[in-house]
Amino acid sequence: MIAVAIDGPAGAGKSTIAKKVSEELGFIYVDTGAIYRATALACIENDVDMDDHDAVESFLPQIDIRIIFFNGEQHILLNDKDVSEEIRKENVSMAASRVSAIPAVRKFLLKLQRSFAQTSDVIMDGRDIGTVVLPNAQVKIFLTASPEIRAKRRVLQLEEKGETADFDKILYDIVQRDYNDTHRETAPLKMAENAVEVDTTAMTLPEVIEKIVSIIKEQTQ
Ligand code: C5P
Repeated sequence: MIAVAIDGPAGAGKSTIAKKVSEELGFIYVDTGAIYRATALACIENDVDMDDHDAVESFLPQIDIRIIFFNGEQHILLNDKDVSEEIRKENVSMAASRVSAIPAVRKFLLKLQRSFAQTSDVIMDGRDIGTVVLPNAQVKIFLTASPEIRAKRRVLQLEEKGETADFDKILYDIVQRDYNDTHRETAPLKMAENAVEVDTTAMTLPEVIEKIVSIIKEQTQ
């Protein structure tokens, strides 16, 4: 079984790239951020105070998250409801960053994430895949880009969906999430020792995909 870990900060393009690369190579793609987002959404919907770690921990047994693959697309089911669209909202992004700092949440989601790599070749993206979730992954990639370009790409993505986007607010949120993700005590965002760093600031999407595919081929031969 081959496992590819792609880590990096918010908005570096991990999901888009991991999805395309997995299609090209015939691997299963698992977006672990979606799992944290679903956990955050469950807390929001049930008025669980995310600053109260004990309250979040005791709420976890009521959360059932499943990932199903439908027409090659990953769908997230939260207690049997498809929340794939809802978890992309900006307030859920920020809430995901908050709940993900709670050790009990990370422990709860670890098993689920690992189970995906047991049955098929997988490309998994997140923050701690190469360092914690799949430390033995054959390929580890750390994808980065400047905060400004990440915010710009996010604005374009929202505009394509017909939504309005405020660049300054998005940039502020990205910088804030970077800070949360790199400064938390449990499994902070950091590059694994044996990861290859790919800075996509000045690269086009096809260039990044080509680069990642070639790294994977090189390292799994
Ligand atoms: O990748 P995405 O932006 O969807 O992730 C949402 C949030 O979930 C991140 O800001 C991060 O705090 C958290 N996360 C994490 N570990 C992962 C994936 C996501 O802490 N493996």
